[in-house]
Amino acid sequence: MRHDHDAGGGHTSSRRTFIRASSMGMTAAALAAAGAASAAAHPTTAVQQARAQGRPLAVTPACDGHETPAATEGPLFKPESPERGNVVTPGISGVRLDLSGVVYDTACAPVTGALIEFWQCDQNGDYDTSGFALRGHQYTDNRGAFRLQTIIPRDYWGRWGNRAPHIHTQVQAPGGPVLITQLYFPDGTQAYGRNFAALNAQDRLRNSACTITLSAPQDGRYTGAFDFVIKTTV
Ligand code: FE
Repeated sequence: MRHDHDAGGGHTSSRRTFIRASSMGMTAAALAAAGAASAAAHPTTAVQQARAQGRPLAVTPACDGHETPAATEGPLFKPESPERGNVVTPGISGVRLDLSGVVYDTACAPVTGALIEFWQCDQNGDYDTSGFALRGHQYTDNRGAFRLQTIIPRDYWGRWGNRAPHIHTQVQAPGGPVLITQLYFPDGTQAYGRNFAALNAQDRLRNSACTITLSAPQDGRYTGAFDFVIKTTV
């Protein structure tokens, strides 16, 4: 049992044998195309406005070979999560989020069979510490793609003060080092009546380079994109 979760590091390196993932999900590029139409109707963010005006702007930053920034793991990671892309379990009633993306190596080649762990709090800001609600792991497909069906988490008060909504994640290429980081939401995100701009601004752990790109919500559901860039050798 690990007690010092904040130390981070490669504790997952030997935890699992990698397997080939089944095909799943849209790539971030496909998401860009899919989101353009809805964004044009109600442009509210800089990205949406750029789309509405026909200006070229990547829905996620193009892979430039720079590794996705790491962040603290936090105290609430639980090993042995279920393998699944949908982590919404009974009792979870938050604003739905369909998150897709690609895992790249630092040469911008897609990484097949990368292990991705996701864990997050629920619509009340609570983590499931007795079970595995809003927790799961999966493997990228042969295009390096992943898809996570989840909810927008709520902000909460923790050891680092008030935390902006975020999704914890670990990403690891087969045999590679573990990237531990956290994903955030744009200032204009609408969920739970919260002011995401204010929450983002006061969160001292937040790294804006780890912000999910969201499309305009449709039927109260968000579609998001985030691509990871990871090292594949230790
Ligand atoms: Fe957290």
